[in-house]
Amino acid sequence: MREDMKRDDDVTLPPLAAKWGASVENWQDAAWQMRHACCTLEDLERVLELSPRERAALQQAGARLAVRVTPHFLSLIDPEDVADPLRRQVIPLPEELESYSEELFDPCGEQKDEKAPGLVHRYPDRVLLLCTDRCATYCRYCTRARLVSGKGRERWRLDWEGALKYLREHTEVRDVLLSGGDPLLLADEKLDAMLGELRRIPHIEFLRIGTRVPIMLPQRITPALCAMLRRHAPLFISIHCNHPHELGEDAERALGMLADSGIPLGNQSVLLRGVNDSVEVQRALVHRLLQCRVRPYYLYQCDPVVGTRHFRTRPQEGIDIISALRGFTSGYAVPQFVIDAPGGGGKVPLNPNYVVAEESGRILLRNFLGDIYEYPVTPQV
Ligand code: SF4
Repeated sequence: MREDMKRDDDVTLPPLAAKWGASVENWQDAAWQMRHACCTLEDLERVLELSPRERAALQQAGARLAVRVTPHFLSLIDPEDVADPLRRQVIPLPEELESYSEELFDPCGEQKDEKAPGLVHRYPDRVLLLCTDRCATYCRYCTRARLVSGKGRERWRLDWEGALKYLREHTEVRDVLLSGGDPLLLADEKLDAMLGELRRIPHIEFLRIGTRVPIMLPQRITPALCAMLRRHAPLFISIHCNHPHELGEDAERALGMLADSGIPLGNQSVLLRGVNDSVEVQRALVHRLLQCRVRPYYLYQCDPVVGTRHFRTRPQEGIDIISALRGFTSGYAVPQFVIDAPGGGGKVPLNPNYVVAEESGRILLRNFLGDIYEYPVTPQV
């Protein structure tokens, strides 16, 4: 085992590790996890009993978005439960091969705001940099299925020099979000060099990384990676976690290492039918996130991406979940529910309505229990 991958605490092997004959050392090695990720029907069948529907989908899946699931994530799935919420996120179903008139390949309209290949500039002071098209595991509801994994209708390309030139010229940009694909799949040296070049642009104040690696491949979070990221502060990390079962011991350890390195952590989750579309699951998720030192940040309405209708809930369900959290638990635990407006409108927050009426001299407010209170509005001179 490499020196920087040693852990000083006990690591227990999940029962599934026996399917690969993995040692603790293998299991804790991110490269081993990636080499043994399941990418085909045959790979998955060796470790999981597949339903006829899953088998049928896997025979054709990959045309839209490649299949890949790390042994780590597979070990969190209950093999007896065909409706397991983690399984539903990563094992294709026949529904993903269907498409509907409301669905789009690029629902967030990123292409139209691309200023150089891989650089999207939509909001006034921040940009999105698509650093890679690879992920440790591919999520079947992925908004960027058009370009991640190399199977969609678009080929990912990053013009790094072009992006740097644009950023140097656009002094209004103070915040760069590195996403993809998953930037934490890049080698430490490459990511370090990219962050360093961005840091040298004087008006860029703040860097962010969007990643699902602490959930899908927590073994990638090493002391060496944490030390490198720490050098680029202020750097925030948004993880992507949808269900409390994703936050096992390995993920908790990885998130703790990032937090101990002074990196503020937030979570972006997607509201998904059959995965986390209940108050109970959302409450357990946000509480578990806080235990792992991650602040719930956004809860997204599932984008209308081609092949994802079976995942989508009604927007009102998200609002109802927020109503059931706000006031009933810590404010830190309550994410902002948003819809990324199709066609490039950006994130629009959706909130329960707490203002019952506005009249001269007062507003009437509904509190979290439904009781009405009056707030006197001070006349403005
Ligand atoms: S990790 Fe993110 S970018 Fe990658 S497949 Fe999942 S949702 Fe898409």
